[in-house]
Amino acid sequence: MIIQLEHNISDVQRATLAAKLDTIQYKTMEVSTQFGEYIVGVGKKEFDIRTIGTMAGIRDIHRVSDAYKLVSKKWKVDDTIIDLGDGLKIGGGNFEIMAGPCSIESEEQIENTINHLVKNGIRIMRGGVYKPRSSPYSFRGLGIDGLKLWYKKARAAGIKIITEVMMSEQIDDMLEYVDIFQVGARNSQNFNLLDALGKIDKPVMLKRGISGTIDELLQSAEYIFSNGNERILLCERGIRTYEKAYRNCMDINAIAILKEKTHLPVIADPSHGIGVRRFVESIALASIMAGADGVIFEAHQCPEKAFSDGQQTLNFDEADALFEKMKRTFKFKQNL
Ligand code: PEP
Ligand code: MN
Repeated sequence: MIIQLEHNISDVQRATLAAKLDTIQYKTMEVSTQFGEYIVGVGKKEFDIRTIGTMAGIRDIHRVSDAYKLVSKKWKVDDTIIDLGDGLKIGGGNFEIMAGPCSIESEEQIENTINHLVKNGIRIMRGGVYKPRSSPYSFRGLGIDGLKLWYKKARAAGIKIITEVMMSEQIDDMLEYVDIFQVGARNSQNFNLLDALGKIDKPVMLKRGISGTIDELLQSAEYIFSNGNERILLCERGIRTYEKAYRNCMDINAIAILKEKTHLPVIADPSHGIGVRRFVESIALASIMAGADGVIFEAHQCPEKAFSDGQQTLNFDEADALFEKMKRTFKFKQNL
């Protein structure tokens, strides 16, 4: 159950509500976000929700029986739109592309990528400065100095930054320079990190775990929302299966299912989703047809020389073609 409170609910009205909730023996949690105040109730007892819905100080009440609640479409039918400022919005019919290298590598690479994005009218650049790598001997990112350098160049060009945060201790230092915090697949159930990202007012793109279920992804998103941050995007990036012909199995099904279950925007990551450069385009387009609100993919001036994930990274010519095809596909889908 979700109870939406009026902004001006009085202390007396709160106390009356608490007493009422006591009588039905619901376990409750108060949630206060940048946009609203809610009480999330968990319990089994049958009761007439109108007896609460009609109380003074209550805006609305909804029955949500899923394990995840605030991210569910059962109480919020309208799509959440993530407003990044400067006229840039994701969700609710606003389709956005994010592109850039797997890792931020050098000043020259940042400049090349920004120029490429600007030329194509793409306004969000991806890139990791803290890289989760399977081997400790692989390149692990330029860290906060790389982010600061990137920020300086990106801001001057009107480009927004999405980058991965790996632990809560990094958030404060990164906050000023990041437009969307990415939570990587390996941290999809790092609940302390999710708690911490719930306490900031910056959008968070949460990736699905390598073997995470759709339900687990939604419950992870619930951690962020219930800590106070409603600005969440979900990302399908492929899951591990027994198949060896590709790196991950892009779960296109999950995109369609998430769009039904949640009001949050869903982003597709075909680069990690299939992990093979020549198939990234078709998987990106298929994701759009399945309902994705945006696509994030890896592009590099010279993928063969990329510090990480070169095998799934498009060169700029391939990226140019994909930008065009994605825009056309999104329009086509809207007019179906
Ligand atoms: C990435 O975006 O480069 C990345 C490491 O993604 P994931 O967490 O999905 O593996
Ligand atoms: Mn990568």
